[in-house]
Amino acid sequence: MRPIYALHSIFLPYGIVGGKLVDGYNHGQIAASLGIRILQGEDPFSIQIIEGSSAQYMFNYEQLERFNIDIKDLPPDSVIINQPFSFYKMYTTLIWTMIGFAAILFSIITLLGININKRIHLEYKIKEDNEKLELRVKERTKELNELLEQKILYQEQIIKSSQFKSEFMASMSHELRTPLNSVIGFTDVILERISGEINEEQDKYLTNVKSSALHLLDLINDVLDIAKIESGKMEMNIEDVNLSKIISQINTMIKPIYEKKNLKFEFPKFDKEKVIQVDRLRFKEILFNLLSNAVKYTETGGVKLEILENEDDWVINIIDTGIGIAKQDFDIVFKEFKRVNSEYTNSIEGTGLGLSITKKLIELHGGNISFTSELGKGSTFTFTIPKKINQISEAIKII
Ligand code: ADP
Repeated sequence: MRPIYALHSIFLPYGIVGGKLVDGYNHGQIAASLGIRILQGEDPFSIQIIEGSSAQYMFNYEQLERFNIDIKDLPPDSVIINQPFSFYKMYTTLIWTMIGFAAILFSIITLLGININKRIHLEYKIKEDNEKLELRVKERTKELNELLEQKILYQEQIIKSSQFKSEFMASMSHELRTPLNSVIGFTDVILERISGEINEEQDKYLTNVKSSALHLLDLINDVLDIAKIESGKMEMNIEDVNLSKIISQINTMIKPIYEKKNLKFEFPKFDKEKVIQVDRLRFKEILFNLLSNAVKYTETGGVKLEILENEDDWVINIIDTGIGIAKQDFDIVFKEFKRVNSEYTNSIEGTGLGLSITKKLIELHGGNISFTSELGKGSTFTFTIPKKINQISEAIKII
């Protein structure tokens, strides 16, 4: 088959396959573009004359189909008429863009779906865990409540038995003191030869009886003190106590012991009016216990009493140059009936109750006691007495 030339394109729908055809639309387009150029001010004479044919390759799709001619075999830039309308060809880019968008959207929705699923799963798990935890907390609370009830019961029993012990000790000590005082009194009568002459040996034995009875009386008095404090029966009478007077009274009590041992003794000096708010008898007992210990456990050197006044409290130091306390014995010092086990301490009389009573009496005043010590070099016992009355009475109430 041969292509047709120079035929007008209007014949194309009428059974012709196609060829290089003259096309009115094409002519019109060329003429219109020349016209626009002239209208835009171009010189018509400068426009080059178009020579040659303006015909172009045009084919009828139906005829191409009929004669089985492939579009690919046609010359390039061929115009094909009667070609069936293909939506796909017309909107290929749009379709693919939309497919792309749809794919992205689908992926996002899928991802969101997975995420939501995971969250739901997680929330479910958290809820489940919370429920388990709640159950465990309930169980543990129940157990704890049971334990607490047991503990309260146990504590009540301890308090009861401790009160019973203190009451028993208080009444026993009282009962023991009366006959003991008469032992001491009658021993004195015999020793002073009021009831007649005694020989030297009898004097020696009776002196021993008297010293043992006095030691026993000390012990009973200490036990009575502890029992009173523990059972809350120790009455405190807080009042203004003149410091110079109390220091001088203590000095009178302690002087015979430190002079006998040739120890230096240093007391602080105060204005005549200076007062401290304490229970007179108990405060004296505290100072006496600590100072007599300092003298008891010091061989050479001396003892110093320091009373320092702060804004809120008094700080009292009892410093000695005595035997000191080894670190491993620090814990036992304030314990009842406990004494440091050494050749020196064993040679000195003591009950092991003095410091535990002292500690309790200081605490009754709302203060506290501590110490520093070095073996062979000496010890410093420090205690505080708060200044405010309400602090003191609070402490008393607690006890
Ligand atoms: P004690 O009646 O034995 O003196 P305390 O309760 O007063 O009982 O003291 C307990 C122990 O603490 C004493 O046995 C002693 O070993 C030790 N101690 C107390 N004060 C001193 C001190 N100033 N220096 C060295 N040791 C001390």
